[in-house]
Amino acid sequence: MGSPNPVQPKTRIALLPERVRDQIAAGEVIERPASAVKELVENAIDAGAAHVAIDLEEGGTKLLRVTDDGSGMSREDLELAFVAHATSKLFDVSDLEHIASLGFRGEALASMGAIARCSLYSRERAAEIGWRIVDEGGAIGEPVEAGGPIGTIVEVRDVFYNVPARRRFLRRASAELARCLDGIQRIALSRDGVGFVATHDGRRLFDVDAEMNLRARVRRTFGTEIAETLVEVEARCGDLVLSGFVAPPRLARSDSSRQMWFLNSRPVRDKVLLRALKEGYRGRLFEGRQPVAFLRLSMDPARVDVNVHPTKSEVRFRDERGMFGFLVEALRRAVARTDMATPGAKLVDCAIAREEIASGGGEPILFPAPRSFEPRSRPQPEAAPPPAVVREVPGSAPISGRLLQIARTYIVCEVAGGFEIVDQHALHERVTFESLLADLRASRIEVQRLLVPELLELSPAEVELLAERAAALAKIGIEVERFGPKTLAIRGLPARLQRPRTEAIVRDTIAVLEAARTGDRDPAAEDVLEEVLHRAACRSSVMAGDVLSEAEMRSLLERGADLESDQTCVHGRPTRVRFTLADLERAFHRR
Ligand code: ADP
Ligand code: MG
Repeated sequence: MGSPNPVQPKTRIALLPERVRDQIAAGEVIERPASAVKELVENAIDAGAAHVAIDLEEGGTKLLRVTDDGSGMSREDLELAFVAHATSKLFDVSDLEHIASLGFRGEALASMGAIARCSLYSRERAAEIGWRIVDEGGAIGEPVEAGGPIGTIVEVRDVFYNVPARRRFLRRASAELARCLDGIQRIALSRDGVGFVATHDGRRLFDVDAEMNLRARVRRTFGTEIAETLVEVEARCGDLVLSGFVAPPRLARSDSSRQMWFLNSRPVRDKVLLRALKEGYRGRLFEGRQPVAFLRLSMDPARVDVNVHPTKSEVRFRDERGMFGFLVEALRRAVARTDMATPGAKLVDCAIAREEIASGGGEPILFPAPRSFEPRSRPQPEAAPPPAVVREVPGSAPISGRLLQIARTYIVCEVAGGFEIVDQHALHERVTFESLLADLRASRIEVQRLLVPELLELSPAEVELLAERAAALAKIGIEVERFGPKTLAIRGLPARLQRPRTEAIVRDTIAVLEAARTGDRDPAAEDVLEEVLHRAACRSSVMAGDVLSEAEMRSLLERGADLESDQTCVHGRPTRVRFTLADLERAFHRR
C-alpha cells in the first residue's frame, strides 16, 4: 500500500439536539420566503378557500401573511397545527397511494415555526369566535381567543431570524419577491375557482378573480399578446386528460418562466413533462429557446407518486413511457396549429414608434420595470375569449403572384391580402429536412454514392462509434466504413442534400450520438436518426446567395406550401415575414 491512512480524530457519535434537528429538517421544506408562501397558499386551497390574499414586506423576509376564507380550524386543531407530522390530510400509509390534497406531510407549519416568528389565527365557519396561537423558533404557545373573520390568517415574520447560516443565503428583497410572485402566479394559474390578490409593502402586485378561466388568468398575468396567440390543447386517453394552451414558437424565451405544468392542479417541474413539451416543439424552436405553454394534466392520483421530494414539485409517474408518447403527440398537433407566421406588423409598429419619438409626439417609451414590479398597466376586459387568430394568408395558397428576388437572399411574394418576404435559405432548409424526414418514415432515402470515398481523420473512438452504427446510419443514406484505426471512409450521403459538407455532417453525427449517451449506456443510432437528418439539412442547404430564376423561386415556395408548416427553418428562425395591407396602411398613415 502507498501512504498510510490519515489519522482520523476520535469522535463520539451523539444525537443532535432536537432544536437543531428541527431546523435542519425545516430547511428542506422552507428554503426561502417563496417556499413559505407556496406552502401557505396550498394550505388555503386545501381548506377550500375561494379567496386568498398574500401580503409581503421586504420580499417576504420581514413579513409574509396569507389570509383565506376556507374552512378554518378549531382550538384543538390549532394546538396541533405547529406540531411536526401533524396533518388532517393523511391517516394511513395507504393514503399515500392516492393523494388529492396539495399538502400531506404535516411539515410546513412546523418548519415555519422552527425558523421564524409565526402567528396563526383561525375561525371555523360555525364558530362564534376565533383562536390565535404563536410559534416562535419552535416555542409553541397556548391558543387564545381572538376576534376576526371566518377562515385563517397565518403570519410569518423574520424568516431565519434564528438560523444565521440560512439567513445569509437570502438575496435582495427584490429577488426574493420575484420568486414569491412567480410561485403565486403558478398557483393562480393552476386552478380556476380561486381568486388571488398579492401585495408588496402595501402595493398591489397581482390579482386574478375567482371566476377567471385559464386564458383570462394568462392574460392577466402575462398580457394580451401571449393570451391572444394561444392555441388550445385538448386530449384524452383513458384517465389521462391534457388541457391548456401552447403559444407560437416565435414567443419562445430564453428562460422557462412562462412554461408551466400543472399535474392534478399542482404546479410541478417534472423532467418528463418538460421533455415532452420540448419534443412537441421539436424542429420549430430557435436553439436554446424555451416554449411558452400552460398545461394541465390530470390522471388518477394512484398513477403518480408526489411524495418524492419535500417541496413536492418533483413527481414520479408509474407508466412514464405510454404517457410520454400521448403527450408528445397531442402537443405536436397543437403546436402545428399555432400561427407560425412572423407578423410584419411588429416591424411596422417599431418603425412608427421610432418616428413618433423622433418627432417628439406620441407616448414616451418607458423602460419596463423588472417584471415582478410591473403594475398591471390597464385593466383588461375579461369578457369572452378572443377570436381565434384568423390566418389571412393560408400556407397552402397557390403561389400565383409575381415574384422578386432581392440581394440573392430574399424572395418577395404577393399573397392574398398582402405580401411576404421569404428567406430563401431558411425555407430551403425546412423543405430539405421535411423531405428527408418523409423519406425516412417511408424507408426510401435515396443515396448519392461518392465516386471516390472521402477519407476523414478522426479519433479511434470516433471511428469506432460510427463504424459500429454503420447499418443504422445507412438507413438515412449516410454510408460510412472503417478505413483504418483513425480513418473513416464516407461512401455515400442522402441524394437530396445539395452541396453537402461531408466533414461537418460526420462531425455533427458524432456530436448527436455522444449527446444521446446516457450514463454508461451506448447511444442507439436508431434513436437519433431524425436529429442527424436535421443537422445534415443545415449543413447542405444551398440558396444562400444563389441567384434564382422565377421558376426556381416558385418551385421552392410551392414545396414549402405543401408542408405542414413552412413558417420556420429547422432552427426555429422564421422563414418569412408577412405584411398585410392593413400593415401598409398603418405604415403610410392611411388610417
Ligand atoms: P399539511 O398541509 O401537509 O397537512 P401543514 O403543516 O401545512 O401540513 O398544515 C398542518 C395542518 O394544519 C393541515 O393538515 C390542516 O389541517 C391545518 N391547516 C393549515 N393551514 C390551514 C388553513 N389555511 N386552513 C385550514 N386548515 C389549515
Ligand atoms: Mg400544507
